[in-house]
Amino acid sequence: MSSFDLHSPGDLDAALRFLEKGDRSVTVIASGTDLIPRIRKRQVSPSILLDISSFTEDLRYIRQSDAVVRLGALTTVTDLLESPLFEGTLSMVREAATLFGAPQVRNVATVGGNVCSASSSEDLIPVFLALDSSLKLISAGGERTVPLRDFVVGKRETVMKPSEILSEVSFRIPEGNSWTAYEKLGRRNILIIAIVNEALCLTLDDDLETIRSARVALNRVSGKVPALAARTNEFLRGRRVSDETIAGAQEVLASELSLTSDFRGSGPYRTELAQVYLKRILERCSRRIGRRP
Ligand SMILES: Cc1cc2nc3c(=O)[nH]c(=O)nc-3n(C[C@H](O)[C@H](O)[C@H](O)COP(=O)(O)OP(=O)(O)OC[C@H]3O[C@@H](n4cnc5c(N)ncnc54)[C@H](O)[C@@H]3O)c2cc1C
Repeated sequence: MSSFDLHSPGDLDAALRFLEKGDRSVTVIASGTDLIPRIRKRQVSPSILLDISSFTEDLRYIRQSDAVVRLGALTTVTDLLESPLFEGTLSMVREAATLFGAPQVRNVATVGGNVCSASSSEDLIPVFLALDSSLKLISAGGERTVPLRDFVVGKRETVMKPSEILSEVSFRIPEGNSWTAYEKLGRRNILIIAIVNEALCLTLDDDLETIRSARVALNRVSGKVPALAARTNEFLRGRRVSDETIAGAQEVLASELSLTSDFRGSGPYRTELAQVYLKRILERCSRRIGRRP
């Protein structure tokens, strides 16, 4: 493991001032569950780590005001699991948190660290994409809000500047006849690194059959970047939930995915799995909205 200096400022303002110069040799560390293994494997070799893990007063919270949910960047996956907010319409957040790592990891792994890892197997990115989330990025100079769909621009590449910290993920609770669902497959039952993971936020019209909006998101739509399955979502809009619609959507999904092969699974296998999951999450959401068994 390469050596580095660890800088632990007294408060968030001091941390932002430390980042102000935009020095690329400084890397933010939250709980380190992603970063430390990467340093050990020499995939990255930062010379200075800026530890933000103690700023829980500023950055660890789950708040709801009106229909907007705000998650501080230091919110842990266990915090998500324990929040009653994710029991109903937003149950996909809990489903993803349940399938996340193992208890030791969930207790420390942060929402902000997951989003900023911007890798092709993170659990929370598709979930937050399906919820049309926004990210608050703060710096000594102020703050800006970026839609998550514009945040990740490549594998482990984001639009965040070296002077910025992610402080909050926010999204609106989907209105009316909506439900959410998440599916993930890995090669084992815990500590699962996703071969495919897929999230859906579905809203039906008042007839409880016609799709008003569908937001399907996967970790790899094209290459290794998490994204919304835009063509599939467009196909689903305005159609009635039926076997025919689902079969059509599965075809569109396969045509817009370019899933690559690796030691965890081949591209064609991942594509087939994504199609199966699409059916499952569409049926699960529409059943829950219609309160059907
Ligand atoms: C055994 C094990 C199992 C795992 N299982 C899963 C799993 O099932 N699903 C999954 O999605 N992930 C999993 N992970 C990966 C990791 O736990 C998650 O990505 C976690 O959410 C990262 O959070 P962290 O606080 O540890 O981030 P860190 O490791 O501290 O940081 C990760 C990256 O984000 C940056 N960063 C962190 N916070 C901020 C911030 N607020 N602002 C700006 N940049 C920031 C860091 O610079 C770094 O590049 C696993 C890891 C391990 C070791």
